[in-house]
Amino acid sequence: STVPTATISRLVTYLRILTQLEAQGIKKTSSEHLADEAQVSAFQVRKDLAYFGRFGTRGAGYTVPTLRRELRRILGLTRSWSAAIVGMGRLGEAIAHYPNFGAYDFLLKGAFDIDPHKVGREVAGLTVQHVDELPRVVREKGIDIGFITVPHEAAQDAADALVRAGVKGILNFAPTVIDVPKEIHVEPVDFLAGLKRLSFYILNPQLREEVA
Ligand code: NAD
Repeated sequence: STVPTATISRLVTYLRILTQLEAQGIKKTSSEHLADEAQVSAFQVRKDLAYFGRFGTRGAGYTVPTLRRELRRILGLTRSWSAAIVGMGRLGEAIAHYPNFGAYDFLLKGAFDIDPHKVGREVAGLTVQHVDELPRVVREKGIDIGFITVPHEAAQDAADALVRAGVKGILNFAPTVIDVPKEIHVEPVDFLAGLKRLSFYILNPQLREEVA
């Protein structure tokens, strides 16, 4: 059976809340509290967690460090992941410089471009390499994840190069749908799409889903 994408998004939110609770030294929480913080219903919290097993005890709620550890395990965040960026323009550089990148053991191990002016440059401690080097670097550095930060018309080429090189997943920042074999997972990231949803909801506040 499958798990709704929205559930996975909410697990990420619950994990963030649990991390904050743990940082405050709070040891116990409840589906009601998580629901409040995540702006969903307590029923939703329990349903989301139930896809993955039984956590906490009836009436006593959840132990913060335990539930946090379980969510990290479910999300695959107890191991490290190696990533490479394809497209070292404005966005690629900004991501490479993002200081919190390694917070969950996402390790940036490669930076690629096709522009001869960019290849060979140092960015955030990495030497930008030509995309032709992708298969070798992916193999040698064990890169699992590719970030696509190329112009939209180059996104499919970048995806093909990443898939041929052997990555398992792609975070696609380019505003276009890319075709990949079905064993590869693509996560689109698009703040412009968020902006369009935002303008809709500013104009149509009455059409927002109720928080139960
Ligand atoms: P940019 O022009 O500054 O950088 C693009 C880089 O990609 C350049 O260095 C270029 O040489 C390189 N490139 C071009 N073709 C390539 C290929 N086939 N292989 C490897 N590298 C290649 O662009 P930018 O402003 O950094 O934007 C990059 C992409 O990110 C665009 O598609 C843009 O629409 C998108 N974007 C997305 C978001 C978001 O929220 N998802 C935000 C900003 C920009």
